[in-house]
Amino acid sequence: MEDWFKYRQRYQEPQQFIDDFIRQKNIQVRFTFPPTFESNLVSFGKVRVGEFTKIGEKALIRDSELCKTLIHEEIHHRLAAREQRDNLRARQIRSSLALEESYADEVANRYFRMKSRKVTFEH
Ligand SMILES: [Zn+2]
Repeated sequence: MEDWFKYRQRYQEPQQFIDDFIRQKNIQVRFTFPPTFESNLVSFGKVRVGEFTKIGEKALIRDSELCKTLIHEEIHHRLAAREQRDNLRARQIRSSLALEESYADEVANRYFRMKSRKVTFEH
């Protein structure tokens, strides 16, 4: 019953679900922009540098996806900020979208692995 409620909540009150998720799973990340649910997003997440972080419905499918999407999107902001500070490595990564994507995935996967040793993710 409780599980069913939690599952339903993620789709009925997605923003509340995301906010609770960050708190309950102890995602201690200082987000550049608060991750905001966007119902008509086709991708897992989306950022515009200097403007926003959006989370799509796809990321809500399971805890692991939501965790990884939150980190992945944040990495785009941080890379852009590092590039603006003339960080060479960041500039190199951001020179190719494919490179930037795989870098963001790698960091997100590593974060999730580390986190799942301390926190229980439902699925
Ligand atoms: Zn990305």
